[in-house]
Amino acid sequence: MAEVLELQCRECGRGYPVSPIYACEFCFAPLEPTYDYDAIRAAVSAERIGDGPPTIWRYEALLPELDRSKRVDLGAGFTPLVKADRLASYLGIDELYLKNDTANPTHSFKDRVVTVALSAARSMGFNVIACASTGNLANAVAAHAARSGMTSFVFIPSDLEEAKIVTTAIYGGNVIAVKGNYDDVNRLCSEIAQTVDWAFVNVNIRPFYSEGSKTLAFEVCEQLGWQAPDHMVVPVASGSLLTKINKGLHELETVGLIPRPSTKIHAAQAAGCNPVTDAVTRGIEHVRPVKPNTIAKSLAIGNPADGYYAVKAVRETGGFAQEASDEDIVAGIRLLASTEGIFTETAGGVTISVLEKLAAAGTFAKGERVVAMITGMGLKTAEAITGKVGATVEIPPNLEAFEEQLGFLEGDR
Ligand SMILES: *Cc1c(COP(=O)(O)O)cnc(C)c1O
Ligand SMILES: [Zn+2]
Repeated sequence: MAEVLELQCRECGRGYPVSPIYACEFCFAPLEPTYDYDAIRAAVSAERIGDGPPTIWRYEALLPELDRSKRVDLGAGFTPLVKADRLASYLGIDELYLKNDTANPTHSFKDRVVTVALSAARSMGFNVIACASTGNLANAVAAHAARSGMTSFVFIPSDLEEAKIVTTAIYGGNVIAVKGNYDDVNRLCSEIAQTVDWAFVNVNIRPFYSEGSKTLAFEVCEQLGWQAPDHMVVPVASGSLLTKINKGLHELETVGLIPRPSTKIHAAQAAGCNPVTDAVTRGIEHVRPVKPNTIAKSLAIGNPADGYYAVKAVRETGGFAQEASDEDIVAGIRLLASTEGIFTETAGGVTISVLEKLAAAGTFAKGERVVAMITGMGLKTAEAITGKVGATVEIPPNLEAFEEQLGFLEGDR
């Protein structure tokens, strides 16, 4: 495991001892775990990683773990990287891969961040774990808490998809539906965090939580034979995932696992919640908060904590930003399902729609490798497509009735 030397301010570089804190006392900027990269470089190798478990913990040398005996593990990560030839040919992309994170234990990429956060929280002696969530984090926190015997408190906006509420409550934690949007929930959690001794995965444990997202970059590179792709299309909510994918790529170079990456990272957001894509498109540095109004609820963060850093990462890598309307999102979900057999949630619909727009704009040159992040599973947001897929044919149970209908049905005969 990687020893965390200290937590360091992203802006002024001030160091803090490893503890449940997340912001610099002087400039309020986020804190980052720091590591001894020379030691990691000496210890890590492609072979050793290859011999590791088929989970994110194969990259333990690059993850902030405080006490391995306290690890909380449901098997998150090492999800398939699918070569998507049918979708590629539809979109006119030479070489396209989909990182299928629907295959995680609770069916979204949030299992990656939560296994790291809960392991750290448990090592620091916390018994209660909490989060503000747009749904997927709630699932992941409740499940990992159950696995570790910790108590969980999950705060969600009260208008969340039914499936995301049920699939959190089943794990037996406390689910608190707050009458407000995610930004209201998050603000409430920051207040509660001052009054209780709980680990809030995306507040006081956030420096650990967010490091889990690096593993998406690690896996993509390993699965491409220790090469970084030319492009990545990444959905953005708080901006942490995109920021940490960029960090992960550079860490692999630092420890000698890949050559210098030149991956362009593109941001995908819903048109109804676009603070990051708007800032990229306008060429402004600081994101302007918005009031979310989109069916992509897992991305509906109007005031993204890492928005500034996500914009910076897109710009530094030479990436672009695009947005998807609600209609585009549904079309994206259907396109992915019908070409590749992968059923993604609304966030994945955003990614596919943005991938399509980037391809149409000529972003991907011939021979370049493109990876799109499919971060969540469609069953959780089934209501977004209810009534918008092909009608079902109903017949009485006899052959004649079937043959009568067959003429109307498409397909091979
Ligand atoms: C949370 C989430 C994201 C984005 O995560 P951030 O790190 O907050 O930007 C993307 N896709 C899905 C499905 C998510 O649940
Ligand atoms: Zn500082």
